[in-house]
Amino acid sequence: MAKYTDADCRLCRREGCKLFLKGDRCISPKCAMEKRPVVPGQHGLGRKKVTEYGTQLREKQKVKRAYGLLEKQFRGYYEMATRMKGVVGENMLSLLERRLDNVVYRLGIGDSRSESRQIVNHGHILVNGKKVNIPSYLVKVGDEISVLDSSKSSPKFAVLKDMKIVVPKWLEFNTNTMVGKILALPRRDDIDLNIQEHMIVELYSR
Ligand code: SF4
Repeated sequence: MAKYTDADCRLCRREGCKLFLKGDRCISPKCAMEKRPVVPGQHGLGRKKVTEYGTQLREKQKVKRAYGLLEKQFRGYYEMATRMKGVVGENMLSLLERRLDNVVYRLGIGDSRSESRQIVNHGHILVNGKKVNIPSYLVKVGDEISVLDSSKSSPKFAVLKDMKIVVPKWLEFNTNTMVGKILALPRRDDIDLNIQEHMIVELYSR
């Protein structure tokens, strides 16, 4: 599968906002968006007139990159959202939030979505007691997400017990047992992304 291999921080600088791709570094003064918040490259400081298409494209890229997806995968969520009842843009964001790798990130088990994806890929996560190593697995209301018993003592997960983790209101997580639950489907106001999803819908409807 094709994979993005350039520096993550360049993506934030390109999109002009923090995409929170590198865990703790993103909330430290080392964040590239704190030190050099300009578009990377030779012409980064120059001003260019942005077309409507350009604005829509940037909104799409922002979300796609925040969730670490490639175009085909991302488009798949849009197509799925068009077949659901409700507002397409909001449906699409809700589907993205329900990905297992994102849920592991939102529960604070992984520092970033990419680390969370690795955690899922490596088989550390159970859904309703069964190992699920598919990052795109879509969780549903009532699902129980937990850390594999044999992984709980590893340093990566053991520290969770001492942490105070604030999770979005559609989730709950017990750091002692390392068990989380999906309380509701994520709604637009649960998703802390500063984007205008209707622009993505307009882009794909062209
Ligand atoms: Fe983006 Fe995080 Fe890098 Fe800051 S540290 S530029 S938020 S990936």
